[in-house]
Amino acid sequence: MRTIPSVRGKSNGLKTIGNMEKTNFKHSYKEFSLQAVVRRVQNMVALRDDVDVENAHVKFSYGNRKTGSLVPSVSTIPVADCGNCKVCKAGCYDVRNVCFQTSVQRARANNSAILMKERKRYFDEIEERCKALRFFRWHVGGDAKDRDYVDNMVRIARAIPTCDFLAFTKMFDIWNAWIAENGPLPENLHLIFSDWRGIEMENPYNLPVSSPVWFDKDGNEIERGPHTTDKYQWCGGFCEECAEYGTGCWTAKKGETILFEAH
Ligand code: SF4
Repeated sequence: MRTIPSVRGKSNGLKTIGNMEKTNFKHSYKEFSLQAVVRRVQNMVALRDDVDVENAHVKFSYGNRKTGSLVPSVSTIPVADCGNCKVCKAGCYDVRNVCFQTSVQRARANNSAILMKERKRYFDEIEERCKALRFFRWHVGGDAKDRDYVDNMVRIARAIPTCDFLAFTKMFDIWNAWIAENGPLPENLHLIFSDWRGIEMENPYNLPVSSPVWFDKDGNEIERGPHTTDKYQWCGGFCEECAEYGTGCWTAKKGETILFEAH
């Protein structure tokens, strides 16, 4: 198990598995209508068609309110660049809460276009930038689309052992197949299987799972993801803080679940 040294030297007191405090919950989860999701995604797909790929570079996101500036990320177009979102797209956090800004839509379209037309350069640019990073998160929006994408994520993690990579995925089959053929993932690639109501998930290697929890407006829990395990901790809501203190998804172990309020 890779240890992530705390950037600040000591723990901030986040509780251990099973008893992290639930704080700052808003109980405000609302799905979009499918039409609204489709419209927003179609906007981004249309923007993608206009990208001048030859003169474009992969855009990194710094300072997202969820990930923080210490954890830059690269995203593609949610839903359009996800391979397994039939049951979750109407509730997609990224579509609803992040992709309403034109600048974000353009960044997603830009990255998706480079991935489509100059795939090698897409990964080369990410690799080059990650050489100078301590933490990196794949895909606030989007997912590892196919086997070649997964191969590249693993290759980059192996090439840059000084950077910790975090990725959530619903492409369970591809990752399971990769592990079956190649053995464990690199220790600096923290892969979390992403749960959702109604989703089918095979998890033979017991990878950590992130599971949403739904509440009613009075704060009573009404449902949690079907693949939640009994060893869990609550998501603190700010990946940078988890990275700094070596907790949350960055150090989640096999069989553990990160619970988060559906938002
Ligand atoms: S537990 Fe920490 S690292 Fe994981 S999603 Fe929540 S804030 Fe981010």
